[in-house]
Amino acid sequence: MKCMKCGVEAVFQRLYSGEALCRNHYLRSVEQRVYTAIKSRRMLTPTDTTAVALSGGKDSTALLHILHGLEKRFPKAKLAAVTVDEGIKGYRREALAIARENCARLGVEHAVVSFKEFYGLSLDAVVRRVRKLKSGLTPCAYCGVLRRKALNHAAKRLNASKLATAHNLDDFVQTLLLNIFHGDIYRLTRTEPVTTESGGRFVVRIKPLYEVPEAETALYAYLQGIKFQSTPCPYAGTALRSDLRVIVNGMESKHPGIKYTILRTFEKVIPAIKEETKCVELRTCGNCGDPSIGNLCKPCEMLQQINVI
Ligand code: SF4
Ligand code: ZN
Repeated sequence: MKCMKCGVEAVFQRLYSGEALCRNHYLRSVEQRVYTAIKSRRMLTPTDTTAVALSGGKDSTALLHILHGLEKRFPKAKLAAVTVDEGIKGYRREALAIARENCARLGVEHAVVSFKEFYGLSLDAVVRRVRKLKSGLTPCAYCGVLRRKALNHAAKRLNASKLATAHNLDDFVQTLLLNIFHGDIYRLTRTEPVTTESGGRFVVRIKPLYEVPEAETALYAYLQGIKFQSTPCPYAGTALRSDLRVIVNGMESKHPGIKYTILRTFEKVIPAIKEETKCVELRTCGNCGDPSIGNLCKPCEMLQQINVI
């Protein structure tokens, strides 16, 4: 199989588009897809300070390298990275070392914020309390909500104007479907490549990889020789998201392109759903002051459940 652009031996064929590409054209095509998403969704300006949420996994590490390549073209832009140390025994330490190594290699400022320092307890301690409560929620449910708040805090400390997260096409589609299965229409309308909040308490969040399938970010990192953590989190696989991943991947292998079809469908219907739900009025969290739907924001509600606040 030859590269359709230059005739050199191809390393990858995209089943959903039929393209066969050599190493160089493959790498350029992934970068181009990210740059196009950034441009068409107006994710960045030439003077932005962007904090990348860097977990040390393949997606966030690939994103850091791609944005670093882009930053070099804009002398007034600044790139930084933030890693959240949730406190997961036997897992996070390796990821932190890899994150540090990548930042040092690229000369990117790197900040670390831990659950222990920010909330007073590690995720492992949260999980122990949650298991006693038998709330039915998975470790990932707490981790995701608490990480989001910690990341925002760290990005603000770095004076970042944008917070870039490494959600790829698979994550994005799973999140859209998860919100349907949870019946969470408000969150569904907030599942977008760029998320802003008018009160200014949250740094604008962008998802530059949202058009790149997970398998393609993995191949990108591998072909670039980027070091990333491949050990899975011990809590992974406990959430509904894992079931959805298997279902959607099964559908994609039978019907190539179905992930993009789901994405494009939601892109069309979300504006209409937003219109219907715009009466949802945001309040202020009684504990931390962040915007919330109820008396408390979601992270504070979870912390109250496990008697932290
Ligand atoms: Fe957190 Fe779940 Fe990811 Fe582990 S797999 S880091 S618990 S969200
Ligand atoms: Zn709160």
